[in-house]
Amino acid sequence: MIEVREDHELKPFPVVLEACADELLSSWLRRHAAYYAVSEAALIAWLGLKVSTLRTVDHRFSLEQVGRFTRVLRCDPTCLVGMTHAGVPAEARLLTRQNRALVCHSCVDQHGAAGIHGVALKSWIEAWRITCRLCGGPLSEPGGSHDNPMSLREISSFGERWWEGARVGEGLIERYVTGQTSMLQAPVALMRLLLLPSWYRPGQPFDGFYNGWLLNELIPGFDDHARRVKRRVNHGAIGSIPPALRVALLAGISLVAASPASVIDYLRPACRPIYTRHFEAFAAAAVQGLSPPIDIEIEKMGWPFVSLLMPKRTGRSIFSFQDVS
Ligand SMILES: [Zn+2]
Repeated sequence: MIEVREDHELKPFPVVLEACADELLSSWLRRHAAYYAVSEAALIAWLGLKVSTLRTVDHRFSLEQVGRFTRVLRCDPTCLVGMTHAGVPAEARLLTRQNRALVCHSCVDQHGAAGIHGVALKSWIEAWRITCRLCGGPLSEPGGSHDNPMSLREISSFGERWWEGARVGEGLIERYVTGQTSMLQAPVALMRLLLLPSWYRPGQPFDGFYNGWLLNELIPGFDDHARRVKRRVNHGAIGSIPPALRVALLAGISLVAASPASVIDYLRPACRPIYTRHFEAFAAAAVQGLSPPIDIEIEKMGWPFVSLLMPKRTGRSIFSFQDVS
């Protein structure tokens, strides 16, 4: 039985394992628990943490805990905080609390070859990532055959056509989350906007109620796949969207970002009327922030739709970012 110790009684670990690049703090702590042959619960008690699982410290990390861990793990506090999602903007935190992590088989193999096991990387639980931050390879769903792992690019119905666009969307959110852009709330607001329910456009004949999302207006076929898991496709819980559909959502974000005002104009009439206020709120947040030019190669993204329709609707180039009003 391991005793709960007072803060001043905590002594540094005799051996501190080297943290891997982009490793989660909970992963590093779990590896220490394994090294010292104690359970996760025992380590939590020994550290005096008031949490039920180490996963909590990945997104809720107090100053007291920083000081305690710095002493026990003999490391720099900046490095410790960098292993968590504590610095992620508040609007994006729900994207970092996935219970079901993805995995990069390439990095697992690399770690295994170095004799390091049980590592979990930050990008594997971030709901805006489809590639591994460490090696850039496509992430995979956990499980399945290790000899023949299927990546998101392969298992997603949108992977073949929309992968490059999805990577652009991933980059947009990554820059926002890491403070490299002034787009403020835009990417998260866009995710919410694209997952609002859709409806018949004015003039379209009504032929019954249906489940549909605005994203389908940009990424045809999204509705067909989303209906199978409709409880997980919700503008209020954007982090819960299945990873295979995340590819479509990120590609949709890149399309809106190419010409935000024009695409939002195009989407507006397709929004289910009772969600109009939501639409306008998300759109205001998104368009307000999306002013810097973004280098997006629409041709590569395989979507001729924007270049064909948007200029006709607005008379403006899809690469014009001055049309944000
Ligand atoms: Zn990797």
